[in-house]
Amino acid sequence: MATYIVLLGPPGVGKGTQAVVLAQATSLVHISSGDLFRVNIKNQTELGKLAKSYMDKGELVPDDVTIAMIRDRISQPDCKAGVIFDGFPRTPKQAQALEKMLGELGGHVDVVPYITADEQVLIERTGGRWSCRAQGHVYHEKFNPPKEAGVCDVDGSVLYQRDDDKKETVANRIHVYFEQTMPLVDYYHKAGKLIEIDGAKSMEQVTSDLLAALKK
Ligand code: ADP
Ligand code: ADP
Repeated sequence: MATYIVLLGPPGVGKGTQAVVLAQATSLVHISSGDLFRVNIKNQTELGKLAKSYMDKGELVPDDVTIAMIRDRISQPDCKAGVIFDGFPRTPKQAQALEKMLGELGGHVDVVPYITADEQVLIERTGGRWSCRAQGHVYHEKFNPPKEAGVCDVDGSVLYQRDDDKKETVANRIHVYFEQTMPLVDYYHKAGKLIEIDGAKSMEQVTSDLLAALKK
């Protein structure tokens, strides 16, 4: 049966970074809702234009649009063995829709690693984040610098700083996280699926804590 993992946690805590490593260590596909929106923005699709108007303000893209995008993605053949969700679900409505969609595929959310860190850590991480234009590989100017400044190690493309990683926008994203996404912590805790992971540790330490927790 397919395995479905939901990585939960505030903006900048390291969900994407860990999802990449976990996907390499398993046969699961990494799906990042933020990356899907950014690809649509790059390709100037209607969905991209709509998403950008919310993302620039640090607000959530409406549920129906986000859910439809994820439904489309998880029905693709590469998701057969399972998925690591990064950044989705972010609201109770999205979580309910996910249960329904996975149910139709004969599965359910298996486990929800909840990665935490305090606000100062999130601000420092988003403030130094650099992403690659081509495929969204992620670096940090202090904690995970590329070999050559401004250039992606993997595909050689240009690195840029996300518009929504500006200080004011990050503050709003953290606020939105507490208001709209925090209820999911309780939701998955009650379902017996939550495992708390200290995201303030080094990348390698967080990875080994995650792998140890997932083994159980
Ligand atoms: P981070 O990884 O720093 O938390 P993301 O790349 O996940 O940031 O998200 C960037 C933006 O994309 C969010 O601020 C929001 O506007 C939009 N977004 C991403 N995922 C969702 C989602 N599940 N529901 C609504 N909006 C989303
Ligand atoms: P999220 O997907 O949760 O928004 P990212 O994985 O994009 O978070 O990480 C945010 C920034 O912090 C990136 O620049 C990344 O390189 C860096 N980072 C991620 N995990 C750690 C860690 N454990 N220690 C230090 N920096 C980290």
